Amino acid sequence: MNRHEGVSCDSCLKNNFRGRRYKCLICIDYDLCAACYETGATTNQHTTEHPMQCILSRSDFDLYYGGEALALEQPQAYTCPFCNRMGFTDTALMEHVTAEHADTTLAVVCPVCASLPGGEPNFVTDDFAGHLTLEHRTGPRDLISFLISFS
Ligand SMILES: [Zn+2]
Ligand SMILES: [Zn+2]
Ligand SMILES: [Zn+2]
Ligand SMILES: [Zn+2]
Repeated sequence: MNRHEGVSCDSCLKNNFRGRRYKCLICIDYDLCAACYETGATTNQHTTEHPMQCILSRSDFDLYYGGEALALEQPQAYTCPFCNRMGFTDTALMEHVTAEHADTTLAVVCPVCASLPGGEPNFVTDDFAGHLTLEHRTGPRDLISFLISFS
């Protein structure tokens, strides 16, 4: 399964590009290819200040990690949509958001949902801490079976 299928870069408009994808966690449905991300593409809504989630496709993941650590879930380092800190695991992100951003009511795109195969790529919530606790506390594998059982 190619995770980037159907995704086009919102700056250079390249379709189904290979390599890393960067998804804005503030703008709805704004994705950049690695080249546009690195050159700092902006729109009148999107700025380089916006936190972006890096999403690897399965084949890129195998490429980067040489086929090691072939867990069923795609390992991801999550970006905090509020303060732009990167490199969280899902559990660490939950702890961080609960501790630092529990009172924040800014609507953001959930980086965990966006990164999960079969997840909702543009799930927006204004209660991110609550959403993490409710939906992602049990880990990705359980979330997937949860999503499947309701689809
Ligand atoms: Zn591009
Ligand atoms: Zn943006
Ligand atoms: Zn944060
Ligand atoms: Zn989510």
